Amino acid sequence: MHEYLPDHVTVQNERFDVFITRERIEDRLAELGARIDADYAGKRPIFIGVLNGAFIFLADLMRHVSIPCEVDFYKLSSYGDEKVSSGKVTERKDLDAAIEGRHVIIVEDIVDTGLSMSYILNLIKHKDPASVRIATLLHKPGAMRFDVALDYVGFEIPTKFVLGYGLDYAQEGRNLAQIYVLSE
Ligand code: 5GP
Repeated sequence: MHEYLPDHVTVQNERFDVFITRERIEDRLAELGARIDADYAGKRPIFIGVLNGAFIFLADLMRHVSIPCEVDFYKLSSYGDEKVSSGKVTERKDLDAAIEGRHVIIVEDIVDTGLSMSYILNLIKHKDPASVRIATLLHKPGAMRFDVALDYVGFEIPTKFVLGYGLDYAQEGRNLAQIYVLSE
């Protein structure tokens, strides 16, 4: 398989260097998939991907899950085209699936301050699911301001701006097959 894996990339005149390699991501997804298989044995969870950033993580994570499962998407945005959170969340697309009584796994690309996740968690809990857990590829513990429990975390990272593997900068860079960090 040919993937886009440069050792650095320039987006909007800013340089980004490799931070988490494709291989490390793949190994971690295998671990998370195995945990989900064990945790949800005999159940049929529904993954709810938070668009746009989570689409690649969700697609790859699901391919490491071997129990019956479903998928739906929720869209919100809080960053605009900036590198710092705007502190506002905008809802763009609601769920299509009925999740009442279902086992939901929310799938995010990154939890930074936790604002987006606490917002979506609240919306989902109001739809009366049987259970809700959170999977996030990345987590910045140093930036966390909202109290949300994260069940499946790919990598904990420092409070730095990252790009690639679904995450963008001004809508660019999502197609990079691994994760890059803004060079200092
Ligand atoms: P929070 O609401 O937790 O502050 O921010 C969550 C959202 O901000 C993520 O879903 C993601 O879209 C965006 N975000 C936070 N940190 C980063 C980052 O380092 N890089 C990119 N590309 N987006 C980020």
